[in-house]
Amino acid sequence: MNARLSHKPVHLRARWIMPTSAEGSAIENGEIVFENGTLEYVGPQRPAGTDQVIDIGNCALLPGLVNVHTHLDYTLMRGLLEDVEFFPWIRELTARKAALTQADWIASATCGAAEAVASGITTIGDCCDSGAALTGAIALGLRGIVYQEVFGIDESRPVAAILQELKQRVINLNAEADGSRLSVGISPHAPYTVRPELMRALAEYALAENLRICIHASESQAEVELLRSGTGPFAEMFTRRGIAWNVPRKGAANYLHDLGILGPNTLLVHGVQLAAEEREALRQTDTAWAHCPKSNAKLGNGVASLPMLGLVSQGKGGAIGLGSDSVASNNSMDLFEEMRFAVLMQRAARRKIAAMNAGQAFEMATLGGARALGMDNRIGTLEPGKCADICVVKLDGLHSAPTYEPINAIVYAARASDVQQTWIDGELHYDADAPPSEQFPGRDISPAREQLRNAAQTMREWRP
Ligand SMILES: [Zn+2]
Repeated sequence: MNARLSHKPVHLRARWIMPTSAEGSAIENGEIVFENGTLEYVGPQRPAGTDQVIDIGNCALLPGLVNVHTHLDYTLMRGLLEDVEFFPWIRELTARKAALTQADWIASATCGAAEAVASGITTIGDCCDSGAALTGAIALGLRGIVYQEVFGIDESRPVAAILQELKQRVINLNAEADGSRLSVGISPHAPYTVRPELMRALAEYALAENLRICIHASESQAEVELLRSGTGPFAEMFTRRGIAWNVPRKGAANYLHDLGILGPNTLLVHGVQLAAEEREALRQTDTAWAHCPKSNAKLGNGVASLPMLGLVSQGKGGAIGLGSDSVASNNSMDLFEEMRFAVLMQRAARRKIAAMNAGQAFEMATLGGARALGMDNRIGTLEPGKCADICVVKLDGLHSAPTYEPINAIVYAARASDVQQTWIDGELHYDADAPPSEQFPGRDISPAREQLRNAAQTMREWRP
C-alpha cells in the first residue's frame, strides 16, 4: 500500500510511554515495537537485534489523539467572526458559505487535516456539508468518520427528496473513502435545523444502512428555549420564516430519543444544557458523547456537567470523547489545551479539585474518543494488536520541564506545538524536525495553503 509502511519491526524508544490513562501505567525508558502497522510490544526497552531503532529521547509516546468533533472544512473561518452572539454567529457563518468554491472548501479541509496531524491527532470525527473534509482527511492519511451533514427545517423540500440526495452523496463519499482509513456516517445537523419527520427518516435510514450518526444537541440556551417553550431567537426566526414548529416541551436528548436518533452508534455533540432526565436517556441508550469544553466556553454556552452525566468513568467504559469543534469557534485544534480546559472548567464550575483529574481528561482524548467513534478495538491505547497510531510529544520545553509525572506534564503543560512526530498505522505522517516541505512525508500541503490564503481574501471582501 504505502512505501513508508515498514515491513520490518521498528522499535520506537522514548523517555516515557503512556499506553493508557490508568494510574501507574506510564513506562519510563520504554519502547514500542510495531510491524506492518500493528503494535507488537509496549514495555521496557529490550534488545532490538537487526531491527530498526528510533530513539526519540526526552519525549512521551501517547496513543494517537482522537478528536471526536471537528469541521475540517471550516478552517478558513478561523478568527473570522469573533465576539458575536451564538445565533447571529451561526446565521452569518451559514450565509458566508455561499461565497466559496468547492476547491476552497477542499483547501480549507486539507489545511485543517494537516493541523490535526501536526497536533498529534490521528483519528477524527468530522461533520461536513461540503464533502471536502473527506478529501482533506484522506490527503493527510487520517483515520476516522466523516459524517455527511443534513439540513431541512422548513418544508420547502420533501423528506423523500432530501433522503434521495443524501443516499447518493453517501454512495459517492463511500466510493471516495474506499481504501482510506475513513468511513462515512450521517449528521442530522441539530434539532433546530432538521424537522422532526426528517429526523425520524434519517434515524431509520441510518439503522437500515448501519451508518453511524452524529448530532449537535443541547448546545445553547436558545436551543433549549425552542424545544421547551417555543420561545427565544430560534423560535423568532421560525416565525419570521413561516416555519411550523410543534413545541415538543422537552429537552433535546428526550426529543431525539423519541425520534429514534439516540443509541450506541450515535454521537451527541455538546450536551451542555442537559437536564437529569436527558442524561438518563443518554445512559440508557448507550449514546456516545462529544465534550467540547473550549467551544462551549467561547460561544458562551456554558460548562457541561461531566460527573453528573456519569460518563467520565476512567477505565469503566464511558464513550465520551473530546472535540475541538471547528476552529471558527475555538480557534485552535489543540487537544492538549482541550484536556486542560476540560479539567480546569470542571474544577472552576464545581469549586473542587476532585471534580476531574488529568487521567480522566487523557482518557477522553484517547480511549474515550475511540469508544465514542466505535473504534476502541483498534485504537485509543498503545497495546499489542492495536494500530500503531502514536503521538510523540516533547516534554523538555521551558514551559513543560521538568517532568515528575508525565500525565500531569501532558495535560497541564504540553501544547499541540510540542508534538514532535505523528505515526498512523506505523507510518510517519508528521515530523516537526524535518525541513518545512518534508514535515508531512510524501504530502505537499503548500497548494492548499496558497488556496486558503486566496479564499481568505474572498471572505474579507464578502458583503451580505
Ligand atoms: Zn460542531
